[in-house]
Amino acid sequence: MTAFALPPPEQPSVAICGSHLRFPVRRIFCVGRNYAEHAREMGNDPDKEPPFFFTKPADALVESGTTIPYPPMTSDLHHEAELVVAIGLAGREIPVERALAHVWGYAAGNDLTRRDLQAEAKATRRPWDMSKGFDHSAVVGALARSVYGSPPQGRIRCLVDGVVRQDAELADMIWPVSSILAYLSRLVELRPCDLIFTGTPAGVGAIARGQTCKVEIDGLDTATVTLA
Ligand code: MN
Repeated sequence: MTAFALPPPEQPSVAICGSHLRFPVRRIFCVGRNYAEHAREMGNDPDKEPPFFFTKPADALVESGTTIPYPPMTSDLHHEAELVVAIGLAGREIPVERALAHVWGYAAGNDLTRRDLQAEAKATRRPWDMSKGFDHSAVVGALARSVYGSPPQGRIRCLVDGVVRQDAELADMIWPVSSILAYLSRLVELRPCDLIFTGTPAGVGAIARGQTCKVEIDGLDTATVTLA
């Protein structure tokens, strides 16, 4: 038994559909610009780049249904509706045709973003950490187990106070889940309990204090968050 000088921090985790068990979370990776329309709305050319990644700390997780404080140091908090992949099996340099075997399940997620800090980071060529990896920035709905690793099909939508802001086909992803896992596993070894946010479609925008933001993906539980 390891003896710690302080009580060890609580293990971050997400709910699992239809189970009292929870999915422990190790790391959170996120894909940038994975839908062509969103890449264009942010001023980039979707045809030119391979996928790129950033991270959020695991303890940035927010359970669906939670009310969170409006984050500090921003006046432009944005929603980004995303499909989240949960990894069940370790792997490095995973071939694309075997990648889905590493998937444990899927959830709806919201990659909350301090857009003003991100714009400043881009302009000054500084890291995105403080625009993406802040407290309460990773909203994830209950995970659904996926026996064969097959991603959900259909639509991904984001509603703010019931008004549709984002509405797209999951099939519109530039890099499908299998390609994301293959590519990311060349950069780092994927480990069980890793989560991967797979990018957001067009229509990102601000959420104000007091508003509720709901991410819906066909076949999955919603990921809902309210700003105090
Ligand atoms: Mn995102």
